Amino acid sequence: MRDRPLLTIIVPCYNEEEVLHETMKQLGTILRDMKDKLVIAEASDLLFVDDGSRDRTWEIIADAMSRHDFVSGVKLSRNFGHQNALLAGMQAAEGRADCIISIDSDLQDDVGVIPDFIEKYRAGYEVVYGIRDERKTDTRFKRGSAHLFYSMMGKFGIHLIPDHADYRLLGSLALQEMNLFPENNIFLRGIVPLIGFKSEKVYYHRKERFAGESKYPLKKMLAFAADGLTSFSVAPIRLVTGLGALMFVVAIVIGIYTFIQHLNGTAEAGWSSLMLSIWVIGGVQMMSLGVVGEYIGRIYSEVKQRPRFIVEQNSYLKDGEK
Ligand code: UDP
Ligand code: MG
Repeated sequence: MRDRPLLTIIVPCYNEEEVLHETMKQLGTILRDMKDKLVIAEASDLLFVDDGSRDRTWEIIADAMSRHDFVSGVKLSRNFGHQNALLAGMQAAEGRADCIISIDSDLQDDVGVIPDFIEKYRAGYEVVYGIRDERKTDTRFKRGSAHLFYSMMGKFGIHLIPDHADYRLLGSLALQEMNLFPENNIFLRGIVPLIGFKSEKVYYHRKERFAGESKYPLKKMLAFAADGLTSFSVAPIRLVTGLGALMFVVAIVIGIYTFIQHLNGTAEAGWSSLMLSIWVIGGVQMMSLGVVGEYIGRIYSEVKQRPRFIVEQNSYLKDGEK
């Protein structure tokens, strides 16, 4: 059994003024409870990462920091997206926490299982995945699209943990390794299984958002799926190559057919098939260019090596420290 760990719960927040008070209250209670039961270290805390919110999110965090010493905050200089916000929190916690738990701020993920995560950690697991055991409360569209996403990713050789989002515990060893992944288009739930270590699962019911709206509109979801796919697999490029080869075979067959028609003196009759093939080939070419361009775009963004997030304030550090 591992000793009482110093736990940091990392909560990325983007325009979450409506839920934040409740989130702090619930997480604070759980933290207090675990401290009282001597399960976690007294210095364990909640780390809120403000991902460039435009509402009162940071004021709420700053106010809570001034009143409670179990509340810490990192403020990003603008909106960098959920994954980067999480990463910012993970990097801030590295070296301080013995383990971290990442959780959304909207209370959709059941905070009641946090002690289970810790129990697994203390039993020696370095990575603990939170798994939703049902998705009744998600819209039918969201459920359907999520399953399509997992099966598609699986076909491309990317094995994700089904029904696991970003509710997970990482021990300091896993955290250290995680922070070494330098890629720009970071897709955490794809990377965590790659780092290995002993892992376990904790099941929970996913609820409705406590308040406010989803910060993941369809556009962001699609971009997220594309990031996940292209940052882990070159299968789409191979698919395009295969399509190209197939088209080549089809073209030979059509060529022979056209030649025979020509010998028969009925060449005009071939007009429709000719038109058809022009369009098919044109379409495939356009699509292929698109896929190739998608990868080039990603190579471009990776080689620039831009920082993935920029911290404006970090309550763990004293003024002037970086
Ligand atoms: N989030 C963020 N930056 C963003 C979008 C979302 O930090 O650009 C946070 C958000 O505040 C929440 C979590 O990521 O804590 C998950 O977002 P949301 O609940 O809106 O997504 P959904 O549950 O609808 O997929
Ligand atoms: Mg949510």
